[in-house]
Amino acid sequence: RANFSTSALPKPVVNPSIEYTKLFINNEFVDSASGKTFPTVNPATGEEICRVAEADKADVDKAVSAARAAFALNGEWRSMDASHRGVLLNRLADLMERDKVYLASLETLDNGKPYKDALLADVELSVKNLRYFAGYADKIHGTTIPTDGPYFAYTRLEPVGVCGQIIPWNFPLLMQAWKLGPALATGNTVVMKLAEQTPLSGLHVASLVKEAGFPAGVVNVLTGYGPTAGAAIASHLDVDKVAFTGSTEVGHKIQQAAGASNLKRVTLELGGKSPNIIFKDADLAYAVEQAHFGLFFNQGQCCCAGTRTFVEDSIYDEFVERSLERAKKRTIGDPFDASNEQGPQIDEEQMTKILSLVDSGKKDGAKLVCGGARHGDRGYFVQPTIFRDVKDNMRIAQEEIFGPVMQILKFSDIKEVIERANNTQYGLAAAVFTNDLDKANLFAQGLRAGTVWINCYDVLNAQTPFGGYKMSGQGRENSEFGLRNYLEVKAVITKLPNKNA
Ligand code: NAD
Repeated sequence: RANFSTSALPKPVVNPSIEYTKLFINNEFVDSASGKTFPTVNPATGEEICRVAEADKADVDKAVSAARAAFALNGEWRSMDASHRGVLLNRLADLMERDKVYLASLETLDNGKPYKDALLADVELSVKNLRYFAGYADKIHGTTIPTDGPYFAYTRLEPVGVCGQIIPWNFPLLMQAWKLGPALATGNTVVMKLAEQTPLSGLHVASLVKEAGFPAGVVNVLTGYGPTAGAAIASHLDVDKVAFTGSTEVGHKIQQAAGASNLKRVTLELGGKSPNIIFKDADLAYAVEQAHFGLFFNQGQCCCAGTRTFVEDSIYDEFVERSLERAKKRTIGDPFDASNEQGPQIDEEQMTKILSLVDSGKKDGAKLVCGGARHGDRGYFVQPTIFRDVKDNMRIAQEEIFGPVMQILKFSDIKEVIERANNTQYGLAAAVFTNDLDKANLFAQGLRAGTVWINCYDVLNAQTPFGGYKMSGQGRENSEFGLRNYLEVKAVITKLPNKNA
């Protein structure tokens, strides 16, 4: 992707018209019950784009009722052929492809990510994800079981029911697709809350859900805030499962709300502080580029960003020097301009949080190699920043920064670095760069993380599971494992007059 020729890209719509700003319930766009709205802001300028409907508990109740009605026994959705659920998902993917330039433009406007990334990563991977799960719709099988006694036993893999889905702002379209694909392939109904910072692309997709032909109430999409609309989903007594992606702090709240209400099933995809380990036997130029990409991609706003770069001592200084050269070349500015690699952070709050963590790094004694300040005075841009001489106990080596701030740590011993890499509350992803197969295999076994990349970074596809160990989450998304979280297993046992092997 990094080498994709930008001249071949279809041009963005720099001022995309906004068609959908209301709540999508029962296949209709409606105002919120309270009539309240809230602004969504262009992070490149700080200016309001438009206002969108603000959902609250009353709207969540309405959406859950619609989703429950759509899940009715013998209803259109429950009685639909599984293969046809796949057809509908493929149609949704087709429509997203038809509208890809508009969707990517909307994403860039509302989120601030470079248009090239929005088009080639967010939209493209979303489409692929929906198609992957579309293919699964009629390939989800139960088993027959040779149970003791004169009985015939089999299992049905059934949809869990009404699924609440709460998604973040860093990859709005992709997180929406990751959640819709497996939920719909398995026959569930959905009440999704988009992130308040980025409501626009997800609402357009809601219109495509209707155009694709999904029955009313199967997918409901709400815009609103976390402590109100999000919390109402997590504690709702008629929601069977909640899937959440976002901060570990809110992950705790989601699980508590589920525990305090109806013990709904919970899957969580939370934060990370992923180690990226570079050995002296790796191809240095390649490792520098990959480490740069693994940290700075998406303005550093990736849950799996390689935010602890461990470099073997004998190449440490050279690695820092080359990383500095690369960071200095990083182009930053208007995300619609194809020559820019980096856009603004999502909002002022995140920019302020990032800059305060940079200050803590300086105070704790890490050495600032470059950056460390806001870029310009309009929008929420942060300079590409690198710290060297970072120690494990510093806040910048412990806390999720979610910004373009690279920490480079030094190591000298393989056993030591495995321990240090694992010495975190998180366990989302990890990477190792080495040409020694034995070292690579040791890391594949020893790192306590849901994904281990060997000589690559951020390779995230529909076919491979993604999720966290420890406080990075519960359950997996993507792959056949992503389906499991959306299925209940039912054992059906029938008395037989006689039994034969
Ligand atoms: P967040 O966890 O607050 O928000 C994620 C989603 O959860 C949003 O839709 C939000 O409205 C909702 N939410 C918030 N409070 C809720 C509640 N009490 N009940 C139910 N839903 C609730 O994340 P944020 O405040 O946007 O970002 C804060 C930090 O979270 C970031 O700095 C970053 O470290 C982390 N983050 C991680 C991811 C990820 O992909 N793992 C994504 C975004 C942010």
